[in-house]
Amino acid sequence: MNGWTSCPVCLNIPRREEISNPKQLTAVIERTRRYLAENKLREVAHPQGSGLPWTQAAFDVLPANGPWDDILLYRFSCSRCGALFDLHADTYHGRAGWERAPERRGDSHQCP
Ligand SMILES: [Zn+2]
Repeated sequence: MNGWTSCPVCLNIPRREEISNPKQLTAVIERTRRYLAENKLREVAHPQGSGLPWTQAAFDVLPANGPWDDILLYRFSCSRCGALFDLHADTYHGRAGWERAPERRGDSHQCP
């Protein structure tokens, strides 16, 4: 066991996805909105989000089709098991990704 247990809620949420173009980023934003609407995920504060030199838009007002800030950092947690998923993008350099955040040692979530 490595702590990456799957629960029925987040079982089908991708663990890792490279995002290589704006169209794909739009698709991931729209998909994430759907997860939020279905209460599969909820937005939580990204640990590095407060270190940004500007205040990033709340995810629910983020335009799915852009324009976006140069850096996007969003974190979501599974509404059931608390698994964390990060959406990060460096839109200036055209790099982005979606990935399950590693569990931090000493901070493991207890599943019910
Ligand atoms: Zn889950």
